[in-house]
Amino acid sequence: DKEADKTLYGTLNNVFKHKDFKSKLQKEATRCILNGSKDVFVSMPTGAGKSLCYQLPAVASDGVSVVISPLLALMQDQLDHLKAIKIPSATINSKLTEKERKQVLADLNSSNPNTKLLYVTPEQVATDGFKSLADSLMKRKLFKYLIVDEAHCVSQWGHDFRPDYLKLGCFRKRIPGVPCIALTATATEQVLKDIIKQLKLKEPIAKFKTSCFRPNLYYDVRMKETLGDPYKDLSEFCLEALNRSQAQKEELLENWSKYGCGIVYCRTRDACAEVASQLTRKGVLSKPYHAGLKSGIREEVQNDWMEGKFPVIAATISFGMGVDKPNVRFVAHWTLPKSMAGYYQESGRAGRDGNQSYCRLYYSRQERDTISFLINKELKKFTRDKEQQKIKLQSANKNFDAMIEYCEYAICRHWAISKYFGDVKPDCNNSCDACKTPKMLAKTIEDLQRGAYA
Ligand code: ADP
Ligand code: MG
Ligand code: ZN
Repeated sequence: DKEADKTLYGTLNNVFKHKDFKSKLQKEATRCILNGSKDVFVSMPTGAGKSLCYQLPAVASDGVSVVISPLLALMQDQLDHLKAIKIPSATINSKLTEKERKQVLADLNSSNPNTKLLYVTPEQVATDGFKSLADSLMKRKLFKYLIVDEAHCVSQWGHDFRPDYLKLGCFRKRIPGVPCIALTATATEQVLKDIIKQLKLKEPIAKFKTSCFRPNLYYDVRMKETLGDPYKDLSEFCLEALNRSQAQKEELLENWSKYGCGIVYCRTRDACAEVASQLTRKGVLSKPYHAGLKSGIREEVQNDWMEGKFPVIAATISFGMGVDKPNVRFVAHWTLPKSMAGYYQESGRAGRDGNQSYCRLYYSRQERDTISFLINKELKKFTRDKEQQKIKLQSANKNFDAMIEYCEYAICRHWAISKYFGDVKPDCNNSCDACKTPKMLAKTIEDLQRGAYA
């Protein structure tokens, strides 16, 4: 409606100084939250602008909104940003001096508080002091929104489980009628279910979720054990993805950057070195990248690859954080990732420019068993507490099982990924081996089941 749109754009332009919304989804989520009649779930990737979705409605409404954030550092970032654009905001946390705390509380307890956004940790929410503040805001009808940022922390299936987030469900009983807004960048189906249950989100929940479907990525799986020479398969895959025939290899050598580049993810340092040397020998220039390299060399390898001086980097998963190269034509996994979430993120580094790109996973049952063993071993080493250990182990194994299923079943790869993230079935349009070459895949899986290559 017109009036709401005026508020929406007025606040966006004048307070936040943005010309327009970053995306349709950001606009729709913001509009829905401003409307204030439902609990809202927002899942968008990092950097998509989730904060605005709740900050704008909080600023444009009467009352005070409470934002739960897991880390003081994240909170401080937000507060600095809000201060810079002159939005009255505050935090109550254990680091405040007595004087600062009194100042914040004095404003919140005044008849017409200035504060629009109050940032607190979940631990803070559980204190008696905070509970009585919440009661007082409720009594004066000043509690506008309860906002839970990084909401995946509420889930044991997430990778950042924070037990204190579980207390938020109970806290909600104190503030009936206050809409709850949950935001996260990483919601699998399982995590979403947990968020709804633990935060007691009220149906019908308004959900705003970026689709995880990437139509320009072709996904397939190769069974390592069924390949005579897996390195040959890999090198041919690289050349095809770079759109070159064998005959054009020479030309490629002189002019890599024109055709883009690729990443081969390996589990160990040795595997990185071996893959790089095998590919190079087969005419696809490649260098290893891993934590075992001297830091000067490691940076050089990364920079040279970024600048297109050589096309293929054989790296451990430590590579790629913050690498946002548009013309990555392929991502191959030389070994099985530990989770679908990880696989999706790593393979998703291909095709950022929207052009056709390829994601191939090399699967072997022997590696499956090795990794399964390592997952258990690592967890026992790093988590002492037996109860925590059990929970984390269940979660890790479940995540890994999903990854194995992805490899061993012949269902559309894009659909499998979408299912995992709770999205609807996308229109794959033959962008995966299960859809494009179903017979061939069925045969390979059959062979694998029969152990024909063991
Ligand atoms: P997220 O929490 O989703 O990771 P943030 O809320 O931190 O993302 O926002 C990421 C960046 O995008 C911030 O610098 C923010 O100022 C900017 N941003 C958000 N919305 C808009 C917009 N409509 N136009 C331009 N920049 C925006
Ligand atoms: Mg954020
Ligand atoms: Zn498909």
